[in-house]
Amino acid sequence: MNSEHKRNQNQKLVEQYDPRCHWCRQFYLKDQLTREHLRPKSKGGSNRMANLRLACRKCNQKRGNKPFPPEYTPTWKDVFQLGFLFIWDHGGNEQIVNLCLAHLKSNTKYPDTPFPHGHVPTWKDIFQLILLFIWDMWEHGLIEASSFVNWIEQVQIQN
Ligand SMILES: [Zn+2]
Repeated sequence: MNSEHKRNQNQKLVEQYDPRCHWCRQFYLKDQLTREHLRPKSKGGSNRMANLRLACRKCNQKRGNKPFPPEYTPTWKDVFQLGFLFIWDHGGNEQIVNLCLAHLKSNTKYPDTPFPHGHVPTWKDIFQLILLFIWDMWEHGLIEASSFVNWIEQVQIQN
């Protein structure tokens, strides 16, 4: 990736998320923030915008290549995003990717869901759906997901 592309991406990140750390939410000067890969590069994460956030050096360092920094309390939405990025990086199943995208955009009811009529899915529902999908693809030998599943299973969610 060339440096101009990288600069453009960083500028977009600031516009989209404000010049603040994705984890501790503190504001910083732009050049004090680092590029944070939600799926770390060492875990196969890409440089696509959906995988990028801004983080302060302290949080970035503390997190290392774990799913989240130690002091951060992840939500189901956070883990869903990791699952979604994993599928996206694998080309995934178009139907489920579109379904998840629709959910990301609206976070409300949407048509043609696998949920009973009238049931508004929560992020937990949708995370479970995506995890089952990953298991299915793995069982059918379509992807190698053991390292991802081990990685995401260390996450503690409080709700
Ligand atoms: Zn921070």
